[in-house]
This record gives sequence, C-alpha cells and structure tokens, in this order.
Amino acid sequence: MIDLRSDTVTKPTKGMLEAMMSADVGDDVYKEDPTAIKLENHIAEMFGMDEALYFPTGSMANQAAIKLHTQPGEQLICDKYAHVYHYEGGGVSFNSGVSCKLLDGDRGKITASQVEAAINPPDFYHSPLTTLVTLENTTNKGGGACYDLNTIKEIKEVCNKHGLGLHLDGARLWNALVATGQDPKEYGQLFDTISVCLSKGLGAPMGTVLCGKSSLMKNAMRVRKVLGGGMRQIGYMCAAGLYAVENHIDRLKEDHHKAQELKEVLQKMSFVKKVEPVETNIIIFEVKDQNEFMTFCKAKKMIISNMGEGKMRFVTHYDYDSLQHREVINNLIEFNSIS
Ligand SMILES: *Cc1c(COP(=O)(O)O)cnc(C)c1O
Repeated sequence: MIDLRSDTVTKPTKGMLEAMMSADVGDDVYKEDPTAIKLENHIAEMFGMDEALYFPTGSMANQAAIKLHTQPGEQLICDKYAHVYHYEGGGVSFNSGVSCKLLDGDRGKITASQVEAAINPPDFYHSPLTTLVTLENTTNKGGGACYDLNTIKEIKEVCNKHGLGLHLDGARLWNALVATGQDPKEYGQLFDTISVCLSKGLGAPMGTVLCGKSSLMKNAMRVRKVLGGGMRQIGYMCAAGLYAVENHIDRLKEDHHKAQELKEVLQKMSFVKKVEPVETNIIIFEVKDQNEFMTFCKAKKMIISNMGEGKMRFVTHYDYDSLQHREVINNLIEFNSIS
C-alpha cells in the first residue's frame, strides 16, 4: 500500500523507538515526568515563549488555547477553512461556548483588513464580543499554504489595537518554517499561544505542544485536566516527540521536494483539470472523472483523500519513500495514457 492520505500515517523509526524505550519517566499529573518537562522546555525555548505544555492531540491543544483566551458568549475570528471550526467536532462551542466569525480567505489565509472589518464593536452589546483571532500555518484545507511574516505582523497590529488575543494553530508550522526559512522566535514574538504537532510530518506517534505567554499558560494545566488530558508516564511519548524535533525537521524539505515533483507531473496530465499551488507537502488537484481515478488508485494500491467535487489530495511524508514516489509517478503517467 502507498498511503498518501496524510502525514499522520507514519510509524516510529528505529531511532525514535530506542529513544522511547530509554526514556526517563514520572507521573506528569504531579508534573514529575522529566522527559515531558524537557520537551516542554525545549519547545518553549525554540519559540522564545514563557511556557509550554504537552497535549495528546492537536485538537485538545487548540481547544485549550481557545478556552484560555475566551469567555462563554464571545466570538473568535478565523478563516472559513480553519481546522478549529471544521475538524474539532464543534469543540469551540462545546468547550468554550464561543462562536466563530468565518472569513473568506485565500487558501486558508486571512488578512489584517479582513480581520479588522470582522471585529464587532465592543460597545454594541447586541453582538458577541470579539476577543480572539486564530490563524493556521500551514493551512490544512487550504492546501499547505504558508503565511508571510508581514501579513502576520499586520494582523498582530490589529489585535493589539483592539485588545484581541492571537493564537496560531501550528499543526504544520514545521513545514512552513522549513519552506520559508522563517525563525520560530519571530512566531513567539507575534502570537500569544502556538500549538505545534509532533505526530504529523515529524513522525511521532502522538502529541502536540502548546506554548505561550505565562499570563495565559498559568491556567493550561487546569484546562487540560478539565478536557480529560491529565496523563501519567507520558515521557515515553515525549521522548518520541523530542527525537522528532531534534531529527526530523530538516528532512521535511524532502517531503516538499516530492510534492513539487508530483505537482509538476500532475500539471502535464490531461485527466487533471487543475492543480492548486504547492508550497509544502500537500497537493490538492482536480480530476475530470473522480470515480475512474479513485478506482484506478485502488487497483494500484494507492490510498488517497477524496475531498469531494472532483478534488483529490496527496500528502507526502516520512514513510513515503523514493521507491513509492517513482511508482506513483509511473502510475499517474499510466492512468493518463488509458483515461
Ligand atoms: C491535524 C491538525 C490539527 C490537530 O489534529 P489532531 O488530530 O487533533 O492532532 C489541528 N490543526 C490543523 C491545521 C491540523 O492539520
């Protein structure tokens, strides 16, 4: 099987498993797991943030961040494709009692003027009070697009002017950092809270770290506990995360390179109607006949995501190796000749 559905399908490498086996652990609910503390300090330091906390999933980390920033009845601003709105089970309203003002961004990215126009006037008590902006980088449903730092700086200025918090859903922030050469410390300067995922491109079996300012993070342990995320000997998992951060960030450029090659091949194919721009490891493309293409993929043992309306998605990752890559390219060329 060649699995191109997501960069979450990877399995731990030998080196990662060894790091897990030899991890020093303790009860993290008592904050006594040395490996969890080491990972949290490492991430906080990377982004120049005050504090960090390990979460089992990215959804829980984002949900906790939203809870830390808001009170029930308030409203956050995000793009219409945002993961916090679409793919976290309605947690924004369930956990925080908050509504989302959705903006019509460009491949999941929004601008400062869009944000400013979406803020409800605080003295107009008929509307929910706007208190938070959440951005996503890279964008997931937006096809792995990266923000440029200037856009984020402009959004931050609007947040400062109107007293809004700024959270980054950085599930694939590593991909953005590698693709753009941006400095993680710049992100720490601009955002109040940032979540970064260890189990997507980096290949750990689980885990997301939320880092942020101590004024917000001081309640993070409590919120994580409320969400059912108090965990015990998580050092085994944090060791995998640390190993991933230390060894698997630079190699993301290989995933990006393969994604570019797939894009170039797809652009030449007559069965493809359109290929979205590719900036990182996600390739979204539209085919003329999705049933025919899906059947072909299945026959060739390729698993891919069907996003509906003829849109297909490939995501490159650690376990998608060069041999598989060559096979996929050959399969695409073969399908083109028979379709
Ligand atoms: C994957 C992802 C998350 C977190 O997902 P979990 O499966 O809960 O870890 C959050 N935001 C974005 C943009 C993602 O792609």
